[in-house]
Amino acid sequence: MSDKKREHKSNVENGEKSNSLIRKSPPPSYKQSTTKTVYIQPVALGSKSQSVICPACRETIVTIIEYETSSKTHYAAIALCCFFWPIAYLPYCIDSCKNANHYCPNCESYIGTYAN
Ligand SMILES: [Zn+2]
Repeated sequence: MSDKKREHKSNVENGEKSNSLIRKSPPPSYKQSTTKTVYIQPVALGSKSQSVICPACRETIVTIIEYETSSKTHYAAIALCCFFWPIAYLPYCIDSCKNANHYCPNCESYIGTYAN
């Protein structure tokens, strides 16, 4: 047997060995890029529902409004209670005396508040 042949044989053996070995590769790491900058333009919100671009789903939507009693609502009620108590409850009934919270109808994310 010549040296060349022996060399060839050993190469084949090595090749077969490495093929039979099951190499467990580490699971691919999913790197989340946090460098992505999202520019959200401040939206001027009113007391009524309006058309805006939702910062969460990027859709042009008409906001859903939920009115929330603000501290001003309470002050107005207290003031009315002192001067003209029969209508002291009025600020709680009038939406314009409350804060308007704007929500996205698509993804239901909070967009902003119009503070009275
Ligand atoms: Zn949305």
